[in-house]
Amino acid sequence: TVAMAMQKLKRVQVQRADRMVHDLRMASATPLPLLRQVADALVEEMCAGLEREGGSEQLKMLPSYVENLPSGNEKGLFYAVDLGGTNFRVLRVSLGGKKGEVLSQEYKEVAIPRELMTGTGKDLFDFIADTLAKFVDTEDTSLEPNPDKTREAGFAFSFPVRQTSVKSGIVIHWTKGFKIDDAVGKDIVKQFQDAIGRSGHNVEISALVNDTVGTLAGGRYNFQEETMIGCILGTGTNACYVERADAVKKWKDPLPKSGEMVINLEWGNFRSPWLPRTFADEEVDNESVNPGDQWFEKMVSGMYLGEIVRHMLLKLAEEAALFGDTVPGKLRERHSLGTPCVSEMHADTSAELQVVAAVLHQNLGIQSTSLEQRRIVRDLCDMVGQRGGRLAAAGVYGLLKKIGRAGPHKNGFAMSRKKKKTVVAMDGGLYEHHLPYRKYMEEALHELVGRNGAYEVFLRLQNDGSGIGAALLAASHSRHTKP
Ligand code: BGC
Ligand code: MG
Repeated sequence: TVAMAMQKLKRVQVQRADRMVHDLRMASATPLPLLRQVADALVEEMCAGLEREGGSEQLKMLPSYVENLPSGNEKGLFYAVDLGGTNFRVLRVSLGGKKGEVLSQEYKEVAIPRELMTGTGKDLFDFIADTLAKFVDTEDTSLEPNPDKTREAGFAFSFPVRQTSVKSGIVIHWTKGFKIDDAVGKDIVKQFQDAIGRSGHNVEISALVNDTVGTLAGGRYNFQEETMIGCILGTGTNACYVERADAVKKWKDPLPKSGEMVINLEWGNFRSPWLPRTFADEEVDNESVNPGDQWFEKMVSGMYLGEIVRHMLLKLAEEAALFGDTVPGKLRERHSLGTPCVSEMHADTSAELQVVAAVLHQNLGIQSTSLEQRRIVRDLCDMVGQRGGRLAAAGVYGLLKKIGRAGPHKNGFAMSRKKKKTVVAMDGGLYEHHLPYRKYMEEALHELVGRNGAYEVFLRLQNDGSGIGAALLAASHSRHTKP
């Protein structure tokens, strides 16, 4: 009968979908040996990037000019401006001057209007200078930031910058959906400082830092010396670490007294034949504003996970009729499935997968799904999240290897009988909110480092890391207060 034939067709379709999911799982797999290869390839690129001015083809390995991380004794009122991927924040922090003390802290966050992300530098900087000016106006005037009343701010700018000093630097290119061509190749602080001038306020940018560097600085302030790495998993992804200054072969100036230098990898642009890419990654790359760039970022970070899942669903809908005879139109729409949705569906443990059903309905207009269909969707979310989290762990493991804190074995690193503890300061919405992702990352890192070895690694969420860190670095590079 017709009903039976329909039933049979349905079953065949589900089987075909299952088969495709299985193939995708194979193609996205990240077994331990592969993660080790990824980490080794990353270390190799890091070394190459430290030798050449401008970095290797993949890794820029940007010196941050931060020689001194916060000591914890910074004191006074400082501002920070944090231009990340999706939001823009201004902060005001009052530092107590004693071990890591923050007396008070306020902030304001605004979404960056989409049109400003691809407009002119002037429009973008006028917008953020204006937001800063309004925020400064809310300052309690009984607080005195410094003798001559110039306010100082740290600027966390989450894009690749070739620094020319701790408070100046040239934008190399944009990422994460930003594309402001006229701002490239120019000093970003000057552009911002000019806009602040136009706003009629007196705020001096005394430190320009990548968000990873801010996060590392914040980690130092809170978790102290063991913090060697700052890592962001948010809209985009990146990491920085504390390197021995003499290992930075391309450094031409005198070596800093501290003997150390914070290096911003810009690891989002890492690529390697070991990265398990699928057709969905190619689609995502092709559709992006920066095709060919940022492969690692496009497999790992929040701006793209939803898009990867969407492309996989689209293919399943087209080739295995996952959602019936017609392909849901929303599946062809870019960004119709955000990473927060993927994260929610991934975390759905209800027997009926009700969260998955709700997201499919609300975001993709797909009504009345069967449990089998929902299970497949959840599987895809799990697969993409697992791959992202594990690759992020491989990245961190690479950095640990580079600084000799990955374990007593291998590659000529000195054996140490002392237990070495390393803290990685983490920030970013993906890490903070996507718990299954975080769990995959932590598990993989422990698998890589080994739990019982002489080395221990802790991932610690450094909330608002980049902003507070930028304020701290403004403080430690202040002209007005002695750090
Ligand atoms: C940028 C980095 C930034 C990272 C995290 C990447 O797209 O290139 O500079 O640290 O996103 O925000
Ligand atoms: Mg941020």
